[in-house]
Amino acid sequence: MNTIPFHPLKEINSRYKNEIKEAISTVLDNGRYINGRHVAELEHSLAALCGTRYCVAVSNGLDALRLILRAWLELGVLNVGDEVIVPANTYIATALAVSDCGLKPVLVDASHTTMNLDTSLIEAAVTSRTKAVMPVHLYGTPCFDETLKTVAAKHGLLIIEDNAQAIGARAAACGINGSALTGGLGHAAATSFYPTKNLGALGDAGAVTTNDEQLAECIRALANYGSDRRYHNIYRGFNCRMDELQAAILLVKIKFLDAENISRNEAALAYDRAIKNPEIETPAFIDGTRQVWHQYVVRCQNREKFREYLNENGVQTDIHYPLPFFKQPCYAEEFAGVSMPVAQSIADKAVSLPIAGISQDCATKVAEVINGFSS
Ligand SMILES: *Cc1c(COP(=O)(O)O)cnc(C)c1O
Repeated sequence: MNTIPFHPLKEINSRYKNEIKEAISTVLDNGRYINGRHVAELEHSLAALCGTRYCVAVSNGLDALRLILRAWLELGVLNVGDEVIVPANTYIATALAVSDCGLKPVLVDASHTTMNLDTSLIEAAVTSRTKAVMPVHLYGTPCFDETLKTVAAKHGLLIIEDNAQAIGARAAACGINGSALTGGLGHAAATSFYPTKNLGALGDAGAVTTNDEQLAECIRALANYGSDRRYHNIYRGFNCRMDELQAAILLVKIKFLDAENISRNEAALAYDRAIKNPEIETPAFIDGTRQVWHQYVVRCQNREKFREYLNENGVQTDIHYPLPFFKQPCYAEEFAGVSMPVAQSIADKAVSLPIAGISQDCATKVAEVINGFSS
């Protein structure tokens, strides 16, 4: 078997090479490189994809999260010092956005099954200062259910989706506006188009989706120096705009997102059928959802030996994420003494198998290699 790379990004993008080159050339010839028609068209497509009325294209996923929180601070909906519930098992960007806005991230442990925030633990973490909850659809598995919706409604919490890993996914329960599509489940959502995401740009890009017109307008202004019209600044804002170039490239790739997500799901199903090794725990398929398999994360007690074995057999893997964010040096003090046993065990055991651009046959072959592993 030839070596199976973890994520052959160049090969995946080369499938769309001609159309991407054409899009780049159109922008070049157009002469308008910021806030032109490609950004407007992409915002339209993304709003449709997430089932929301509004979309604001921005610079990246972290900025999308920050802008949502920052806008609610500007609008007086949130106040500095308010608490925001975040999952213990996530990429650090989720928490960084909260901290950057002077808000307090409060951790809730993961569910062993979904590896997402355990919604049954949210209510116990709510205090009089809790104003929002930030479910993360980690690895492409939607994190949204009736429990989350009910607890959020009961305590008046804003729901901010971190949709960075799940564009195109669908939850088992309808969101607060009646749609089950991720990116449109809560009050606002942030998406990332970092190159390795399911819908990846050729650089940094992100977006906010929401049904809240006031929020969308505030974010649009904040991302453009705080100006609501030319040379008129109502906020002390930032420059967090998406480039026309990235928007044009994303407009090409968005046409293939469904096919890409279906192919990931087929590979995940092939892994699920073929991996039969008591030392390897495969990720769950969650009833009623459409998962988009940003990562296919198995768990193994003897992870180092398992990865070495796979590597020797030509299968490259990765870890998402080896050190929980709350144990990172920048958070070690704030979360000293905090114990998140499920998130910790995921961090200790997780191994991401190749999933992007992998055929079912290829996944089956990898599974056969996996079945030969014994620690
Ligand atoms: C990638 C990612 C982000 C940040 O997106 P960027 O575009 O890289 O800033 C935020 N949250 C999660 C869960 C991510 O995977």
